[in-house]
Amino acid sequence: MTAAHAPTIVADAMKILVIGGGGREHALVWQFRRTPSVRKVWCVPGNGGIARDAECVAGDTSNVGELADVAVRLGADLTVVGPEKPLVLGIADEFSRRRLRLVGPSRQCAQLEGSKVFAKRFLERHRIPTARMYGVCESPADAYRALESVDWPLVMKADGLCGGKGVLVTASRDEASSFVERVMEKHELGAGGNTMMLEEALTGRELSLIVLSDGEHFVPLVPARDHKRAFDQDKGPNTGGMGVYSTDGIISPELERQVLETIVRPTFDGLLADGLQYKGFLYFGLMLTPQGPKVLEFNCRLGDPETQAIVPRMDFDLADVLAASADGRLDRAPVAWRPGASVCVVMASGGYPGAYQAGKKIEGLADAAKVPGAVVFHAGTELRDGINYTCSGRVLGVTAAGPDLAAARITTYDAVRRIRFDGAHYRSDIGLSQSKANGAAAD
Ligand code: AMP
Repeated sequence: MTAAHAPTIVADAMKILVIGGGGREHALVWQFRRTPSVRKVWCVPGNGGIARDAECVAGDTSNVGELADVAVRLGADLTVVGPEKPLVLGIADEFSRRRLRLVGPSRQCAQLEGSKVFAKRFLERHRIPTARMYGVCESPADAYRALESVDWPLVMKADGLCGGKGVLVTASRDEASSFVERVMEKHELGAGGNTMMLEEALTGRELSLIVLSDGEHFVPLVPARDHKRAFDQDKGPNTGGMGVYSTDGIISPELERQVLETIVRPTFDGLLADGLQYKGFLYFGLMLTPQGPKVLEFNCRLGDPETQAIVPRMDFDLADVLAASADGRLDRAPVAWRPGASVCVVMASGGYPGAYQAGKKIEGLADAAKVPGAVVFHAGTELRDGINYTCSGRVLGVTAAGPDLAAARITTYDAVRRIRFDGAHYRSDIGLSQSKANGAAAD
């Protein structure tokens, strides 16, 4: 494993470039700012909140050559990639060709996220537990025909990247047909919908586990649980994620061992057996079924909003550990976690996840910053004349860590209630069911 820079590089002199402009990237930048081994942070393109913690640099995150030029021009010691698109487009290969240090998988490895069919075939080949696949449909006619012989409810997945809109879980034949029409005939989700995979619907609770790998060694981050539905009690449409919690005891030690032994280790072994050296973050979207944990999906990056809840629990130097992963010496990187819990509540624009309002003035951020222990990560804001305005569906990720989930929830919601913008909505039950379950267990 070659390192573009010698591992003896003076750790406290690190200059880091972060690619992306959402809440996940703000959480990374915020953590780097608090890290003694980092002296400079840039973000391409960043956002209104990130601008307070890093120097934002204009750039097209889909142009991997331009991003490498930026890293060279700035003299970045390490580049960390947030979103999937540059990874799927081969940013890691471009940086490696130019001997630039980067945290993220190669284009070929990123196919685990870039193609659902690639991921499913990988899982099947290596006998890693996952939902049974009914078939891969290359044409609308194929897909309509396949609907005749599947079990219901059914899961339909557009093969390529579709901005989080490519999956439908349905028990309705009509809804399934209209999904085929929209995705494969009208191409509403673009080229990602040219091929469709059909699979069995699994039941259970979901869990997000993100693992960092250097191509040889891997280190799991603390697990977290996302809340995908727009409204309380898991009502309303699916979103990119309305909030996340992470807590000690989120799963039992036995289940954790099972996840590592039946899913995580076989995945990295399988990648190596296939000749793929996976470097960077690998996100395992899991369903904890009565038959054991199974893989729903892979992402080739950190989750958003999972990262916002995971970062405040880090009790290690993130920059040093990321540099170790880029250099292939993750086995010697000390990774420790603060005991307790954390919560991130997403504040979204009116109308989200449908057509949403933008350009709304955000008030109360200074007041929220006064809540001890709370931090507000910006996902979709822009700064004009010193004032923050909304500019996306998910606007803010209000986050706090605490000694337990109940305490983290109290701090987070105290800060949330101090922030106002027209049409703002958020879920009031992030982490609530687990918090109640933990409370009951303690009684
Ligand atoms: P994916 O992008 O593949 O994770 O799918 C997005 C969401 O769809 C997941 O977080 C699950 O809530 C749901 N999902 C995906 N695959 C399945 C499945 N086989 N059974 C039940 N739900 C699923």
